[in-house]
Parts: sequence; structure tokens; C-alpha cells
Amino acid sequence: RNADCCWSGSLRTWSSPVPFLYPLKHRGWERVYAGAGVALYDAMSVSSGHGRGLPVHRHLSRTRALRVAPGLRKDALVGALQYYDAQVDDARFVTSLVRTAARYGAHVANRARVVGFLREGARVVGARVHDLEQGGEFEVRARQVVNASGVWTDETQALIGERGQFHVRASKGIHLVVPRDRIHSSTGLILRTEKSVLFVIPWGRHWIIGTTDTGWDLDKAHPAASSADIDYLLEHVNEVLAVPLTRDDVEGVYAGLRPLLAGESDATSKLSREHTVAHPVPGLVVVAGGKYTTYRVMAKDAVDEAVHALDRRVGPCVTEDVPLAGAVGYNALWNARARMAKRTGLHVARVEHLLNRYGALTEEVLELVATDSSLGEPLAAAEDYLRAEVVYAASHEGARHLDDVLTRRTRISIETFDRGTRGAREVAELMAPVLGWGPEQIDKEVEHYEKRVEAERESQRQPDDLTADAARLGAPDIVPL
Ligand SMILES: Cc1cc2nc3c(=O)[nH]c(=O)nc-3n(C[C@H](O)[C@H](O)[C@H](O)COP(=O)(O)OP(=O)(O)OC[C@H]3O[C@@H](n4cnc5c(N)ncnc54)[C@H](O)[C@@H]3O)c2cc1C
Repeated sequence: RNADCCWSGSLRTWSSPVPFLYPLKHRGWERVYAGAGVALYDAMSVSSGHGRGLPVHRHLSRTRALRVAPGLRKDALVGALQYYDAQVDDARFVTSLVRTAARYGAHVANRARVVGFLREGARVVGARVHDLEQGGEFEVRARQVVNASGVWTDETQALIGERGQFHVRASKGIHLVVPRDRIHSSTGLILRTEKSVLFVIPWGRHWIIGTTDTGWDLDKAHPAASSADIDYLLEHVNEVLAVPLTRDDVEGVYAGLRPLLAGESDATSKLSREHTVAHPVPGLVVVAGGKYTTYRVMAKDAVDEAVHALDRRVGPCVTEDVPLAGAVGYNALWNARARMAKRTGLHVARVEHLLNRYGALTEEVLELVATDSSLGEPLAAAEDYLRAEVVYAASHEGARHLDDVLTRRTRISIETFDRGTRGAREVAELMAPVLGWGPEQIDKEVEHYEKRVEAERESQRQPDDLTADAARLGAPDIVPL
């Protein structure tokens, strides 16, 4: 299964349970077969030792399935299974993870590229890093270096001048975002396709529809969705919808790359989702492959390997019990959300939105509102978000440029039909005092963002990967990557 999931009781702040309906097309065998699959999934989550956290699956008749998902075509199913999974906003999760590491003493740098390894004989003793923001290079010395560079693993392994021990292939997956009212359903959907599965996932006031799984050997920093990718998703989801979706219903489109360990198969959907750790030369550990859901296991395996090579004792790994920044205190604040709303003058739904995005760190966002009440207002062109969230992204979450805020710290770029362009100037003006931008930099940020959106739209009109990639590359990055 490939759900966007990362459930655990201690991570409640960033993950939430989501119901999924699996429409059955055949009587008899399919219910037994798929039912056994979800029962196993339920059993595995109990045996993980973290408690269930999620309700168990149920079998539904066609009538009951249509009651929870009236937007389905009646002839698209003979019955259904309902099961639960968990969902997380990956970019928010990474931000929390990085801030947690910094609290434990990690030095963190974004827009910093490793351009070479420092060597003493065969041994790697650090890395040479190019500062993409300010220019120039600096050195970082370390007893052990861990290379965790995802789809760039082959390139970073090449920096040691030896053939890597394994290869990573990039598999492109795209998603569409449509407004919630376009699909009449109180549950997410999982549909079988000829190659894999397709999800329809509730996402605030929207649905996310995805995904695809195709090899990608073009520009890795800007995977582009083509017209063919979008058609593929619309065609498959429309097979079960009473009112089909059209291109005009699509608010946002985004594409990402899965780092898969290269194997014998040409089809990326058949490659392993397992990870591997290697120690190609003394002083350098490489970890590659894997999935988001297994990131703590991957991290443990990589760090254990690095620690093993140190000439001193280090205590056993405790990652499993380390809460992320903002997790401790979340439950108590959630219970107090009505009081927080009263205290701050915000609607309780706003407080819930903040708690679900920042956990206990919501108090830091609210401090900004307390010093400047205008930050408690919603953004004019993206009213789901408060102005304070933009300031916070720049002051506390390492956002350096407009697209950091519009595409990753918030999801405005995929949650509005204008893809964030209407709100771009207001957001840039909010970031400006924090980052010391003058009017010229504000104009430059907005202009770059508008060009990026136009290039993405153009790529999504192209028939295939080659032409989509060429169109996407028409917009230069604000800081060359
Ligand atoms: C469409 C889609 C759906 C997915 N669904 C799921 C799912 O449901 N569940 C799940 O568990 N997983 C899912 N995944 C997989 C998951 O997103 C990836 O496994 C995960 O993001 C990989 O993270 P990573 O850090 O290993 O690699 P990446 O995300 O590729 O990150 C590598 C990092 O290395 C940096 N880097 C590269 N070269 C250098 C250099 N020279 N110097 C410094 N930094 C460098 C890059 O900037 C980048 O930040 C999905 C992926 C996609 C695309």
C-alpha cells in the first residue's frame, strides 16, 4: 500500500485519521481478497506496539457505501470496504523534524549544496559546501558523513570518484487538487488501476487525487506534470464518479520524485520501496530508497552504521521515543482550544487550524498576533491562512523566498485556482521586514513566482515528459539550484 501515511500516537499533531472507501467491482472473491488485505493492515498496526490509533475496517453493502459516498456512480460498485489510514503534510512534517534536530544541537543549512568530499587518503573527513544564497564555499569537517540525498544519490556518490554500490532511479508521481464540493463524499476513496492504485484523499476544503508512477530522467529539481499525466488521473477517477471532473475543476497540480533502489524491472511501480545503507569508503555512510513512512527506521539504520565506525561508545538509538518540536503539550492545548479562541479573539476553527499545523508551537504564532493584531487577519487571497503564518515561516521556519512560503510552508500554490499569484505580493510584503527585503527584492520575488506558475501551467499543457520538462525549465529559480 502506498498511502500518504505516518500514523503514531505520539505524532498526532501532524497526522490525522482518514477514512477510505474501496469500491468492490466483483461479487464474492474480491471481497474476500481485499478484506483479507485490510484485515492484515489492521493487525499489523496493532502488532506495531503503538496501539491501534485508527478504527478497524468494515464491510459495506452497495447501499451503505453510496450513503457515505453519494458521488459514486451506482454501477461502479457492488459493495465496498471501509478502512482507515493516516495522513500527514510532508513539508510541515519535515520543517518540524529539522527544528527538532536543531533543538538537539544540529546545525542546519538550507540552500547549501555539497560539491565535494574532503579526503584524507581514502577516508572521507567532511564535505565542501557551496552557499547558494550568498555564494562562496565552506568546509564542514566530520568524523562520519551521512549521505541521504534521495533521487540525487547517484550524483552525490559520484563525488567520491568511485562507482556507487547501488543506483537510485527517480519515479515521478503527480497529484491533482480539486475543491471539496466537486466530489460528493464523506470518505476518501482508493481505486484499483491497471498498474497500481489511485487515491482520492480529503485535504481541508479540497480533494487530492493521485498518483502516477512513471520513470523520470529529466531535471530532478523540477519534475513536471504533463497533460498526459493529468488526463490519466482524470480518466481513472471519472470511471467511478457520477459527475465527471474536467480540467476546469483542477485548482492545483504538483509533481514529486520517489527515490527507488534500481533493480531488474523497467517499470518503476515494480521497484522495491525498501531502503539500504552502505559504507562505500571509510568515513562515509550512504542511505537510499525507502519511504516517508519508514524514515525513522532509515535514520536509525544510517546513524547506527555511522556510530559503529566511531572509536567511542554511543548510547542506543532513541528516535522512537523522541517527540517532534510542538508535539509535547498539543493534547492539552487542543482541549483548551475554545479558551484560546476567546483569549485571542480568533474563531475556534482558526485555532484548530493552527494547532493542527504547529502543535504546541501555535503559542509562538499567537505571540506574533498579540504584538500586531493585523497579523491575526486572514490573507486576502488565501483566507485559510493567517498573515501571522507567513511572518512565522520567515522568522521561525527558515523560509528564504516567496516560493518557500507559497508552495511548502503553506500549500497556497495548489489550493487556489490562481495558484498563489493573487496573494503573492501580500505574502512577499509580509516576509520583507523579517528578511530585510526592500521594494526591489519584493518585485523580484513576485516576478519569479509568477514566472514559475506560468511555466508550470505551460508544462501541464504539453503532451509528454520531454516537452513538459522543457516548458518548466523556462522559469529560472530565484536562487540557482
Ligand atoms: C507522488 C509521491 C507519493 C508518495 N507517497 C508516499 C506515501 O504515501 N508514503 C510514503 O511513505 N512515501 C511516499 N512517497 C515517497 C516519499 O515522499 C519519499 O520516499 C521521500 O520523500 C524521500 O525522501 P528523501 O529525503 O530520501 O529524498 P528526497 O526527498 O529526494 O530528498 C533528498 C534531499 O537531498 C538534497 N540534496 C541532493 N543533492 C544534494 C547535494 N549535493 N548537497 C546537499 N543536498 C543535496 C535535496 O535537495 C533534497 O532535499 C511518495 C513520493 C511521491 C513522489
